[in-house]
Order: sequence, then structure tokens, then C-alpha cells
Amino acid sequence: MSARGPAIVVGASLAGATAALALRRHGWSEPILLVGEEDRLPYERPQLSKGYLAGTRDPGHLLVAPERRYADGDIELVLGQRVTELHPGDHRVTVGGRRLPYGVLVLCTGATARRPALPGAGLRGVHLLRTLADADRLRAEVAPGTPVVVVGMGLIGSEVAATLNRIGADVVAVDPLPAPLHRLVPAPVGEMLADLHRGHGVRLRLGRSVREITGRDRVEAVVLEDGERLPARVVVAGLGAVPNTGPAAAAGLDVGAGIRTDAFGRTSAPDVYAAGDVTEQFVPHRGRHQRVEHWKHAIQQAGAVAAAITGTPAPLDESPWFWTDQYDVHLEVAGWPDAAAPVVVDGVVGAGGQAGEFLARTVVDGRVQAVTGVGRGRELRALGRALPGGVPHEDPLEGPLEEIA
Ligand SMILES: Cc1cc2nc3c(=O)[nH]c(=O)nc-3n(C[C@H](O)[C@H](O)[C@H](O)COP(=O)(O)OP(=O)(O)OC[C@H]3O[C@@H](n4cnc5c(N)ncnc54)[C@H](O)[C@@H]3O)c2cc1C
Repeated sequence: MSARGPAIVVGASLAGATAALALRRHGWSEPILLVGEEDRLPYERPQLSKGYLAGTRDPGHLLVAPERRYADGDIELVLGQRVTELHPGDHRVTVGGRRLPYGVLVLCTGATARRPALPGAGLRGVHLLRTLADADRLRAEVAPGTPVVVVGMGLIGSEVAATLNRIGADVVAVDPLPAPLHRLVPAPVGEMLADLHRGHGVRLRLGRSVREITGRDRVEAVVLEDGERLPARVVVAGLGAVPNTGPAAAAGLDVGAGIRTDAFGRTSAPDVYAAGDVTEQFVPHRGRHQRVEHWKHAIQQAGAVAAAITGTPAPLDESPWFWTDQYDVHLEVAGWPDAAAPVVVDGVVGAGGQAGEFLARTVVDGRVQAVTGVGRGRELRALGRALPGGVPHEDPLEGPLEEIA
């Protein structure tokens, strides 16, 4: 490891804070600056649609690390400041109008929730959910009986629908796809999740699209393409997130679906690394760049970057893993989901609006490519760790499995 001047980490959230702390742990002896646009200590987002939104977790429980850890690691927190420009040619970044020199730069700028491109999307009462401030604004507008329409039933929309239902809101959820989490879980699991929501009283409008959001000075209804009018006081759009690649793209870094990195987190510019939701990483066992927007991946990439910078490089070549909590169901997914691929289920996915215990293997070309499950976490995670090496789907230890789709 050569001492080359400060490490500047841009984005003070999960990936950024993890990278800064890991750099120090790995022996980086130069100054470390952790620069973040949000004016608060780095926090984790998963509870924003779960316990924090429900009011059962307080903000202190969301922190990536307590404040003293940054002080102990001599990490300078520069919060409430945005990096506006990168100058990779002369190893500088512009922060709040100042051009600061760096030895290494780590870009962890994450992603921004996608705003719906719909008439009425700017009305009061239309919410996105990415930040703690977003969660506070949403929570303040929902009470028992509040009519809420959730637009988009991906990971965040599904969790928001479940959480707001739990606090007594009257929730309708709309998605053009046939099931919640359609792109992330096999079809039988999507159907189980749809039944779960219905069983709790969430009304689903699946395979249906929104035409417009209407209201005078605040939202009053969501109108679907087929003319159905859903009264609403609150609308939550869960339409995915757009990576914050602006400064990197403007500086000429290689940007595809995110900032492109190799398996060590190196970007196309010398001494510039990236980690977390903003990246599109080259994944060796997939043989291509992939974007992964999950909590664990952000931590792993940040660790890989710190290791590479400090001279102990190890490629990150794992399959992704994430969880979601909806009602009392803790669902986990490892690997690379493919909604169109056949799936082999061991156990019972669900019945009568309840989830069962199961492990569902998505099989592509005779190999397990993803695994989805409830109540079988240890097995699922072990299988997930093995996936990059290749797991044939006829595992002799498992006995015959029933092919259901
Ligand atoms: C509501 C919600 C629920 C989730 N639930 C789950 C879950 O159940 N399971 C799971 O695996 N994952 C979940 N995730 C995903 C997980 O939270 C993300 O993968 C993780 O936050 C990625 O961390 P990050 O640091 O890469 O990006 P982010 O958390 O997006 O942080 C990026 C930071 O960079 C800052 N920034 C951006 N541009 C600049 C700039 N130019 N200058 C300075 N600062 C800048 C931003 O303000 C932000 O603070 C959830 C996400 C959300 C929003």
C-alpha cells in the first residue's frame, strides 16, 4: 500500500460508511473524508419500509455505525455536502465549491427513487421512499383508515403496502405485472405473496396500469388505464431507483446501467473505485456486468474496494442475497432470479393466504441459478454461497423433487 494522499469517499450511507471504516481497518494511514449529501450520520435503509415506517424502530437503530466509530477511526465526516464534479485527470473533486485533492476516490452515491412520469405525480400526497426524510413525511400522512394507493409492487412497494396495512391504512396496490415481486421471485411465490396481501385486506390491481393521479391541491384519486378510479389521500410510488451516476458520467467514467467496475471495485479511471447501488459490477461467474441493489452486496463491494485499495485485493464473485419482510413472512432470495425459468419447489409455498415453509430452486441449463425460500434460511444461504461454483439441480442428497412450473 502506498501513501498517496487522502481517501475521499463520496456518499455517506451503507456502502460509503462501510468502505471508510474498512479502509481504516485494513491499515489505510492517510486521511479519510466521508462526504454525504444527507445531513445525518450514515444509516441503513431497509427498515424505512418496515419497522421504521411502522413506528417500531427509532432512527438510532438505523445507524451503520455509532458516531464514535468515525471519530475513533479518524474519519472526517463532511455531511450535508454534495460532490458536484469529479476531475480524475488531476485527482480532485469539487465539494461545496471547493476542489479537494484525493489519493483515492470511492464513489458510493447510491440511487434515487424513480418519480412516476404521470400526470399529477407532483401533487401533494404523492410519496417516494428512499430516505429517512421520505419515510418521516410518509408516516406523518398515514393514520388508521387513510386511503392509500401503492403504485408498483416490487420490493419497496410490497413492503410499504404491508406496513401501511398493518398500521390500519386502507391500501390498494397497483402493478402492471401479474404478481408482487414478479421479477425477483418464481411465479408460485409471487402468487403466494398476492394471496398474503389479499388475506390481510390489501386490494390488488395486478396486470393494471395507472393513467393519472388526480386532485386539486393534493392527491384525491389514482385513475387506472381502464378508467377505474381509486380514491386516495396518499400515493406511494415504488417504481425502482435510478443510480446517481451524474458526476461520474460527466467526468467520462465508463457508465452502463451504473458506474462500471471490475470485481475489485475499480472503475475505468485510475485510483477511482465505486461500490453499492450506483455500480454495475463485472461478476466473474456471470461473465458480465450486473447491477445489484441489495444491502449485503453494498457491504461486500465496499469491503472489496477497501481491500483492493490497501493492497490485499480479492475479487467479489458471490451471488446476491436479499430478504424482504411482509406481514409475518420473512422471505429470502439468493442468486440471479429469472421469472421465466422453471422452478423446482421443495416444501409448501403457501395456502389460504398464508406462507408455508419452502425452498424454490430456479433452474437454468440444469443448474440452480437462484433459490427463494421461507423458513429455510440456513439452507438457502448455504446454497446461495455455492451458486457461483455451479450447483446441479439434481442434488443426490435431496432426493426427488417435484417440478411444478
Ligand atoms: C426503503 C428501502 C428498503 C430496502 N429494503 C431492503 C431489503 O429488505 N433488503 C435488501 O437487501 N436491500 C434493501 N434495500 C436496499 C438497500 O438499502 C441498498 O442496497 C443500500 O442502501 C445501498 O447502499 P448505498 O450506500 O450503495 O446507496 P444509498 O443507500 O442510496 O446511499 C447513497 C448516498 O449517497 C449520497 N449521495 C448521492 N450523490 C451524492 C453526491 N454527489 N455527493 C454526496 N453524496 C451523494 C446520497 O444522498 C445517499 O446518502 C432497501 C432500500 C430502500 C430504499
